[in-house]
Amino acid sequence: MSETLVPFDEVIAKYDPALGLEVHVELNTNTKMFCGCPALFGGEPNTHVCPTCLGLPGAMPVVNGKAVESAIRIGLALNCSIAEWCRFARKNYFYPDMPKNFQTSQYDEPIAFDGWLDVEVEGETYRIEIERAHMEEDTGKSTHVGGATGRIHGADYSLVDYNRAGIPLIEIVTRPILVPAEKAPAVARAYVGQLRDLILALGVSDARMDQGSIRADVNLSLAPKGETKLGTRSETKNVNSLRSVERAVRFEMSRHAGILDAGGSVLQETRHFHEDTGTTSSGREKSDAEDYRYFPEPDLVPVAPSREWVEELRGTLPENPTQRRARLQEEYGFSDLEMRDVWAAGALPLIEATVAEGTAPQSARKWWVAELLRRANDAGVELAEVGVTPKQVAEVQALVDAKTINDKLARQVFDGLIAGEGTAAEVIEKRGLALVSDDGPLLAAIDEALAAQPDIAEKIRGGNHAAAGAVIGAVMKATRGQADAARVRELILEKLA
Ligand SMILES: [Zn+2]
Repeated sequence: MSETLVPFDEVIAKYDPALGLEVHVELNTNTKMFCGCPALFGGEPNTHVCPTCLGLPGAMPVVNGKAVESAIRIGLALNCSIAEWCRFARKNYFYPDMPKNFQTSQYDEPIAFDGWLDVEVEGETYRIEIERAHMEEDTGKSTHVGGATGRIHGADYSLVDYNRAGIPLIEIVTRPILVPAEKAPAVARAYVGQLRDLILALGVSDARMDQGSIRADVNLSLAPKGETKLGTRSETKNVNSLRSVERAVRFEMSRHAGILDAGGSVLQETRHFHEDTGTTSSGREKSDAEDYRYFPEPDLVPVAPSREWVEELRGTLPENPTQRRARLQEEYGFSDLEMRDVWAAGALPLIEATVAEGTAPQSARKWWVAELLRRANDAGVELAEVGVTPKQVAEVQALVDAKTINDKLARQVFDGLIAGEGTAAEVIEKRGLALVSDDGPLLAAIDEALAAQPDIAEKIRGGNHAAAGAVIGAVMKATRGQADAARVRELILEKLA
């Protein structure tokens, strides 16, 4: 089916979007939600399983207390009310990745509800209302083999791994987000990004989008400007990077507008997002009245967190993100503009971690926001996934401070680090990147440069120190950039004094 995509500028002139975001957070508990199996990412297929998470007859689930604690802390950090009493429910459906034929989730009694999160985009604050945050278990993972698309259609056979089945999840659901049309893609991205930072600060999940420990479902509908009734929505499933969240919103806005402009109606369905093209494709039709035959889980006792416990957990919350941001800006001495760039790049936690390794804040900022952000953008990945850790950035800057390398050579060290050539010191050794620290070779290169340009020596002797630049340039070239420019300058001026 061919799709007419309307250019974004035209979409925002005619339509208003309503966004809805459902974010699944995989908790980093030691064990699964209802059994004692290790809750680890990966591993040999079907090795972290037991009768309970395989749904064998007679197996009895027990709620993981640590998961409840994490759910409450997430709810409190999102300014939610915490239920005094709530239950799990069975969500009944048949799919091979859910061996029990139902998922243990929460339905009309979520553990946390009615909260909000303020997000900032280009200096404006938008309050995102949180409808609920509820506990559930993850499903297993299917792999469809032999087809062209990796999807079940056209596959020769499918494999299923239950290691992930039963890992605790928190699903965080927003109310419809109504923001200016042109801001919708950026607000969606900022919300998921700030939520991820909050989850990281709480320490309740690895928060790795690339490994699926945070996954976003992006709901979007359009309505003609001035219309108060929401349009029909599509639901793009399992979007797994911040950049993809933004692109998915943008693409769906263009696609919906194409259908509406042509007088058609948007199909209520799930969609798959394609990283390579930035497009979505049809998944399955989904009606609002989809009947999962929810009913309270009879094998689990209700969860009734005492008010004392809830207040105790409130005391363990990290600093509120807005306050933290203001405090760090002050501490680091960043200008408003610098801070805005840091924020937009999602670099604050990385800079904080680099500073904790002993790097000066401005140096940490320079590497993350200039050098490494450019590389992340080129590679189409998040800054945190660029292939360099805060510890490595700190090591590189320490080598610059020690004059083992300069900024230019440091860029080549980052090349080596990203290529997996070992530690910073090993990259320098292997690639021969260290600065020439011995004056001997520098003096020889200076003599050669001066001999080649005799008039320059006269200028410098005559007090024109700026003329030394040409000599420094020649020495840098002769040493393939491995000279300390400041030292070369000193040597030239000493020589011609
Ligand atoms: Zn198990």
